[in-house]
Amino acid sequence: MNEEKKIPYKIYLTENEMPTQWYNLRADMKIKPAPLLNPETLKPMTYEDLRPVFCDELIKQELDENTAYIDIPQEILDFYKMYRPAPLVRAYCLEKALDTPAKIYYKFEGNNTSGSHKLNSAIAQAYYAKKQGLKGVTTETGAGQWGTALSMACAYLDLDCKVFMVKGSYEQKPFRREVMRTYGASVTPSPSETTEVGRKILAKYPNTTGSLGCAISEAVEVATNTEGYRYVLGSVLNQVLLHQSIIGLEAKAAMDKYGIEPDIIIGCAGGGSNLGGLISPFMAEKLKGNKDYRFIAVEPASCPSLTRGKYVYDYCDTGMVCPLAKMYTLGSGFIPSANHAGGLRYHGMNSVLSELYHQGMMEAVSVEQTSVFAAAQQFAKIEGILPAPESSHAIRVAIDEAMKCKETGKEKTILFGLTGTGYFDMVAYQKFNDGVMSDYIPTDADLQQGFDGLPDIKRAQ
Ligand SMILES: *Cc1c(COP(=O)(O)O)cnc(C)c1O
Repeated sequence: MNEEKKIPYKIYLTENEMPTQWYNLRADMKIKPAPLLNPETLKPMTYEDLRPVFCDELIKQELDENTAYIDIPQEILDFYKMYRPAPLVRAYCLEKALDTPAKIYYKFEGNNTSGSHKLNSAIAQAYYAKKQGLKGVTTETGAGQWGTALSMACAYLDLDCKVFMVKGSYEQKPFRREVMRTYGASVTPSPSETTEVGRKILAKYPNTTGSLGCAISEAVEVATNTEGYRYVLGSVLNQVLLHQSIIGLEAKAAMDKYGIEPDIIIGCAGGGSNLGGLISPFMAEKLKGNKDYRFIAVEPASCPSLTRGKYVYDYCDTGMVCPLAKMYTLGSGFIPSANHAGGLRYHGMNSVLSELYHQGMMEAVSVEQTSVFAAAQQFAKIEGILPAPESSHAIRVAIDEAMKCKETGKEKTILFGLTGTGYFDMVAYQKFNDGVMSDYIPTDADLQQGFDGLPDIKRAQ
């Protein structure tokens, strides 16, 4: 009891204790994730292949599977210091309310205007674009956090920023759009008439509310057709996992400061960047055989890429213009049912996490959205923070695991990622509060439609 009291509600690192390098988990994986493939030749993507689409330095990071630690440039560290280090919070109030012997910690990444961890990678990507002398970047955004984060980073570095925003979200979240425009970004609802791929998709599905995969195709088209522009992406890619390792490195440093060892580490999983970033330094210990943490990826039952997807090569976008990645996927044509409210709607999963899951190093569970919002509300009432629906997937499972501890009397230490705040998700919260939110779990036949669109690939050796 006395010992417990020593651990404060919030553990902050000092500026001097902040990590100055990112950690690249691939360097410590014996079996590496499969390479990106060129969709035309089916050969691994080379630096030259990727140059028309991505920034040079980011391609190097994307393809680097051997360098474990990469220095964070001073300019990025300076920007990080405006909103980092992020606190590691001991959820004493939640533990008490649940009457659990579990010790619950969360790493809170919502303390910036984008309201999420996305800023950690946005500033890095914008920095390398600027350093290369580019005029601007293009991207897509779904729920809007990534677009906001990138707009902030581009404003800071004086870069142009063109955002394709999934149409359904553009219409549902006008204030997100205005935040991005306030930072100087241009925001186009996707699919749009401004690109060839957008016009094609609209001709086929005139009433579509869009998807991330489709917005990606539009953003890539504009980047490759516009002089001085490149495309950047807020999740899924290995470079994004690398930048997000700051989350896990800080969390681990904060825990080490007080001699805390997590037993279970939980994160929500859309494209996998926050989860990958949070677990990276801990997974390194597990890969080396030093520790045996449990890692749990939490995904929506309506978009279950890890729990029900296939581990195969697939397109990263609906328009099939991007490289092929080997990942757990529902097929690039998969679109979650219309009632799905809580983000995490990408059809695939980052290839590092896919490979680790395939090797049995990590678990995955799927949860239904009404139970996610119930956990969100419970958390808001007890811990004060109004969580993003995405983050609430992790809260759901953290609470479930804490309740298991109560049943078994085991004092487990649980760490979860609280990736952001939910102020712009009030339409979803309203549905929940009005009792009209429903759950939809896709049938096998629904999923088969997505699998039918998978490319037929025998990897060229
Ligand atoms: C984007 C986002 C996620 C999901 O993305 P990952 O790449 O899987 O981390 C989760 N939470 C918040 C708040 C987000 O903005």
